[in-house]
Amino acid sequence: MDPRASLSILVLLTSLSIHWDDPGPPNAFLPIPGNVDVTTKFLETNKGSAEHLIEGDVVFPKTKNALYCLNNNCFWKRNSSNLVEVPYIVSSEYSSTDISVIQNAMSTFHNKTCIRFIPRSNQTDYISIENKDGCYSYLGRIGGKQLVSLKRTGCVYHGIIQHELNHALGFYHEHTRSDRDQYVKINWEYIPTEKASNFQIRNTNNQNTTYDYGSIMHYGKTAFTTQAGKETITPIPDATVAIGQRQDLSKLDILRINKLYGCVV
Ligand SMILES: [Zn+2]
Repeated sequence: MDPRASLSILVLLTSLSIHWDDPGPPNAFLPIPGNVDVTTKFLETNKGSAEHLIEGDVVFPKTKNALYCLNNNCFWKRNSSNLVEVPYIVSSEYSSTDISVIQNAMSTFHNKTCIRFIPRSNQTDYISIENKDGCYSYLGRIGGKQLVSLKRTGCVYHGIIQHELNHALGFYHEHTRSDRDQYVKINWEYIPTEKASNFQIRNTNNQNTTYDYGSIMHYGKTAFTTQAGKETITPIPDATVAIGQRQDLSKLDILRINKLYGCVV
């Protein structure tokens, strides 16, 4: 491997503090307990993950970048009924409650977009939802079987599942979009060098939608911070604006899915 590539993969290895115990599965729509935003939650859960993660929970894309990709090859295909089927399989390690939480998260896409997560029959390209060592996903459709990791202890929450599925549809993190410097200030002094890649601006197609502080794809204010309580991302000009929610897809998240996939809804 090219030494520079090895280095960048090394740099992309991410991890963060804390680990949560499974708070127990009371119902299918399982919000994240407490006020911890999704970013914090999955970065905690991803501590020590052996996968090569970019931006905390995105598996390093092997050949393609989502949102801009050759011939739209990194997106899922729309069928003749104008629906975008994303076949999936689910590991047998999940409980029936876990599966209902996962399916409930999928149903929010079904209700508001033309995306349809369908149980795989014999499709070549599909996502495999597995109880691996963190919450993470590939970016867009990579071809063949692709992993979406939802660790049972820490990732089986409505908003986190939506977040990871949205990566699999092709969406980056909101705070890395091309125009983000007009909306947030990155406080590099609190970002460890080896985590800096998580805050790199990406060449994103923003689809003429405004920056969305409320996106389920936005990191929280203290993601990857070196000092407890110090913000790595501060909204500007109003620093009090909330970011990092992991409760539900925002209106703009939904609009973007519909735009990207040409949904008629
Ligand atoms: Zn993510």
